[in-house]
Amino acid sequence: MNIHEHQAKELLKGFGAPVAQGVAITSAGEAEAAAKSLPGPLYVVKSQIHAGGRGKGKFKELGPDAKGGVRLAKTIDEVVANAKEMLGNTLVTKQTGPAGKQVNRLYIEDGADISRELYLSLLVDRTVGEVAFVASTEGGMDIEAVAEETPEKIITVPIDPTAGVTDADAAKLVAALGLEEPAAGEMPTLARQLYQAFTEKDMSLLEVNPLIVMENGHLRVLDAKVSFDGNALFRHPDVMELRDLTEEDSKEIEASKYDLAYVALDGNIGCMVNGAGLAMATMDIIKLYGAEPANFLDVGGGASKEKVTAAFKIITADPNVKGILVNIFGGIMRCDVIAEGVVAAVKEVGLQVPLVVRLEGTNVEQGKAILDQSGLDITSADDLDDAAQKIVAAVKG
Ligand code: ADP
Ligand code: MG
Repeated sequence: MNIHEHQAKELLKGFGAPVAQGVAITSAGEAEAAAKSLPGPLYVVKSQIHAGGRGKGKFKELGPDAKGGVRLAKTIDEVVANAKEMLGNTLVTKQTGPAGKQVNRLYIEDGADISRELYLSLLVDRTVGEVAFVASTEGGMDIEAVAEETPEKIITVPIDPTAGVTDADAAKLVAALGLEEPAAGEMPTLARQLYQAFTEKDMSLLEVNPLIVMENGHLRVLDAKVSFDGNALFRHPDVMELRDLTEEDSKEIEASKYDLAYVALDGNIGCMVNGAGLAMATMDIIKLYGAEPANFLDVGGGASKEKVTAAFKIITADPNVKGILVNIFGGIMRCDVIAEGVVAAVKEVGLQVPLVVRLEGTNVEQGKAILDQSGLDITSADDLDDAAQKIVAAVKG
């Protein structure tokens, strides 16, 4: 689960991290009061969407010459004018995809005098099995580009979970970021605050880009992107309250209600599979035969008929879906249960597109019999290869 920048900053502030003063607003009428509550003389109007690259982003409605999604303002009038221009419009950034995201919320923030823009993040580093800091002097810009073009400018500092952030770890960060006093002296504290926030709140990513050194030499968290581990959310009702459903795909929200692992994609073949690995393999083989999957969907190991029905409804609700491939290996899951779920779902929501079903494993014969006797137009497949070829052919007509 992702949250907005202003929420992430509020949360980090609770751990003591240095963030600027700011006010989130959802209507232009609130802009003046928000700006007046800040010290000035420099203000920043920041689009709150769940995507990065806002500064360099472009508003669809405003044309190529208009300013981006993060704007400096030197007067309160300028704050108000920018708020009016930005709210309600669609911001397209490198991370939103071409459709962009509507800006329904702005963060009016105190402007900082920036001396240097750095990069600092925390993530779960699977190669070492520890939480690690990633740091670079090349902050403020596209870190993926830095990783590709100048990987030597990115350093990783894994943190031993039994020791936490040691002085030696902090010293590595200070050296990597080329910090001088007073910023160098502030780094160990900031690193510990960020690490504590990350671990206590079960984050999967905490990215500060940029972390700045201000003209006065102090550090400040200028941007903050936070993702939480969805499997740990039940432990954090306070975090769950920060969820903004308008930022999420409606199909993914529906899927989460049934505990289905679903990710919407751009293709036209809907997939219903049990097991994440098999779901990945199914997507790969669809691509191999020249088509694109419309989603990733793992119904889980012990899915009920209700769950299968819900999954089927979510897939068919996607207007891009021109064919459906059900690929089930019945281990714990029984093929007859899947077959019953598919038949029930088809009877309930109808079937406007070709459906290919491949069943294998426990109770496969009963499952196939249920499909055959249903009288519905379902194509059976013998193996994954056969299934993929059949659905791709059906979709391509
Ligand atoms: P994004 O990463 O989505 O583009 P950022 O919050 O990183 O958004 O803002 C982009 C750039 O805008 C920053 O790199 C920084 O140069 C400038 N900026 C953002 N917030 C402020 C602020 N409070 N004061 C001064 N400059 C800012
Ligand atoms: Mg940023």
